[in-house]
Amino acid sequence: MAKVAAQREDQLEVLSVPVEIASYSSSPNLPQFKTKPKAKPLDHHLSVESRRIGASEFKQLAALEESHRIIRLGAGRPNPALYPWTFTLLDLSPTAKSIEAAEGQNPAAKHHFDVASALNYGKALGSPQLLQFLTEHVEMVHEPPYSDWNVCITGGSTHAIEVALRIFCDVGDTVLVEQYTYPGFLDMATLVGVEVQATAMDSEGLRSDALDKILSEWDCSRGRKPRVLYMIPSGQNPTGSTQSSERRKDIYALAEKHDLVIIEDDPYSYLNLDLSNSADLNGHTKNPILDDSKSSYRSSLPQSYLSLDTSGRVVRLDSTSKILCPGLRAGWVTASAQIIDKLVAYQGTDAITASGPSQLMLSQLLINSWGHHGFFFWLAHLSATYRRRRDIVERALERYIPEQSAHWVSPQFGMFLWLRLGFGVNSGAECQVGDEGFRNEASSLEGRILARALENGVQVTAGSIFAVSPMPAGEVCVRITYAAAAEEELEEGVRRLADAIKKELAIERH
Ligand code: PLP
Repeated sequence: MAKVAAQREDQLEVLSVPVEIASYSSSPNLPQFKTKPKAKPLDHHLSVESRRIGASEFKQLAALEESHRIIRLGAGRPNPALYPWTFTLLDLSPTAKSIEAAEGQNPAAKHHFDVASALNYGKALGSPQLLQFLTEHVEMVHEPPYSDWNVCITGGSTHAIEVALRIFCDVGDTVLVEQYTYPGFLDMATLVGVEVQATAMDSEGLRSDALDKILSEWDCSRGRKPRVLYMIPSGQNPTGSTQSSERRKDIYALAEKHDLVIIEDDPYSYLNLDLSNSADLNGHTKNPILDDSKSSYRSSLPQSYLSLDTSGRVVRLDSTSKILCPGLRAGWVTASAQIIDKLVAYQGTDAITASGPSQLMLSQLLINSWGHHGFFFWLAHLSATYRRRRDIVERALERYIPEQSAHWVSPQFGMFLWLRLGFGVNSGAECQVGDEGFRNEASSLEGRILARALENGVQVTAGSIFAVSPMPAGEVCVRITYAAAAEEELEEGVRRLADAIKKELAIERH
């Protein structure tokens, strides 16, 4: 482990100061890739639709004009002199500035970002400088084991989910998902016309034995055997569960066995709640910019599927929504060059590109203000903040909700805590599927708890909206997030929720 951390530190030294534009903006240009094998082709997994789509000839011609610096009488792009903005960047928060100052980014070495380009139609793959930074970042964190991977900047993971589904699935295909999942995924699956098959979970997320059983016993009269598995492996939304390394290895081995494409949707893995408080910038440490916390942060991240991916079957989605802000509508996808080419063809056709101003803001922040170290430090700082918030919520749950009436597994990553309420057959134990009466009763209890909580002035999310198939009989769950409310309100929020739960469960106060 120490050796891996040291190797990554060495790489960071090599990669941390981007000096030339886009020298590493595609993985084969990274110096250490010459010796790695290539990804296996996935042609047999492409949908009918995605086989039809290729890079737009029209957009390629427009790009050519740009690079040749000729008089542009071709593409219908307004002249930058006609834009109503020059561009004033948003000011950094004091914490973000303190990282900038500590990282000592040399003002003379700062990149000049071309505002006019950012406000123009951009490249479908993304801005070259930002791609360079993100490609280096992916290599530092994940070290994909094959050589021809690429990164594409997207308008966020929800859009990337749609494109990934379109690339691999035809209407009527079935995609495997965790038993509870991100509703945005379910909406996209409906939009694209694919079926979803719930796969049982335990405290470590998706169960590999359940996955193997579904695939080994697949009845082809239901349609084609699933070829895509969508998962949220760390700080899962909504259950907060995180897969162990062993679980990940088992699932990747099953993907190889059953020839599955894995969509790794991983916006929460950077929020490591078991990180030590040394990275906390809010007055809890004397010297916040400790070299130690930076490298220990990186080595504390869960092992990603991308880092296990010897075949090039993982499509990894990253998002800025949970680690910077959701309004940027930005993220990045890492996958084999073959799949990124498809993604770029789609993106060039529908969204054209991720938002130029958002990419400019990201470039200013990540490249000019923070650099790689500063970005890691920010992530470590966020992690420490969420850890503190999670602890407040857990202490309040212990205090206000009687032990026998609620169960949860302490989340190690992310921003969600999944509260299972003791009710009927489901007093924390596994429950029997198929009892319609219990299911109806649970559903009405869930509605009453939420309504009473709202009357009490607190909002939580109903567990049932995340359920891929009907909730197991007797199961009542709510998802609590400690990310949104003011820190001082968290305890009171839990107290009000507890009051609603106790009244509806008709539990006597202790
Ligand atoms: N993926 C998961 C698992 C999520 O929980 C969410 C947001 O709740 C998203 C993606 C949304 O990402 P984005 O804002 O980049 O579309």
